[in-house]
Amino acid sequence: MTKRMPVVAANWKMNGSRALVDQILRQVKQSGVCQDIEVVISPPATLYSYFDQQRKNDSLEHVFLAAQNINELDSGALTGEISVGLAKESGCQWVICGHSERRSLFNESSKVTAQKFMKALNAGLKPILCVGETTEEHEQGKTFSSLTAQIEAVLHLGGKQAFKDCLIAYEPIWAVGTGKAAPPEMAQEVHRFIRGMIGSICPETAASVRILYGGSVKPENAAALFSQPDIDGGLIGGASLVPEQFIKICQSA
Ligand code: PEP
Repeated sequence: MTKRMPVVAANWKMNGSRALVDQILRQVKQSGVCQDIEVVISPPATLYSYFDQQRKNDSLEHVFLAAQNINELDSGALTGEISVGLAKESGCQWVICGHSERRSLFNESSKVTAQKFMKALNAGLKPILCVGETTEEHEQGKTFSSLTAQIEAVLHLGGKQAFKDCLIAYEPIWAVGTGKAAPPEMAQEVHRFIRGMIGSICPETAASVRILYGGSVKPENAAALFSQPDIDGGLIGGASLVPEQFIKICQSA
């Protein structure tokens, strides 16, 4: 059976500071958590270079840096946007694609998400594809069809090879930032479905692709979620801004 290395990723969204970068790196180093799992931090873009420099200063090169977003184009008159090249030059190795806030607040479709995903992959960065159903879809029993459409958009653009070197984050929208995490068994059922779907697209990838759960993960519920057979770690929002909580979550993976 393929052993998958757990990953715990922090999405700081529009929060954080240089001081928080210093604190998180210090605590990651002191706790030694990144010896057993991969730790990924995604601060706001203004902190990418600082984070990259500090992790090198602390000999923590194996704490990975993820961009929160990139534009699907390479360059141009796009005020406020960041290309994959700029993210890479600032030290990013991973890119979050299709976070539910990008999809809902910035109207990013699954097609645009797929374009960003492929842009990252082609530039040598690892995409973290976020997928998740809305409250309405959840209540109407449309979770699997919603996820299928989001994953198929990437398949359509990138072909089955697209899934070979990516991470998938299942983030039910009703659980993101609400304090109501999906019950572990329910999350497991969805993760198993996603793994099965990847298996039907690209059989050699199904056992190795890592699927993270995101949505109100806290130190209190992390162990139960991460112990599910198809849950390979988490994408953490709110709790990642409190270094002590984030480290505890990492220790549960
Ligand atoms: C997220 O935004 O990706 C997330 C999972 O947030 P939270 O942990 O706060 O629910």
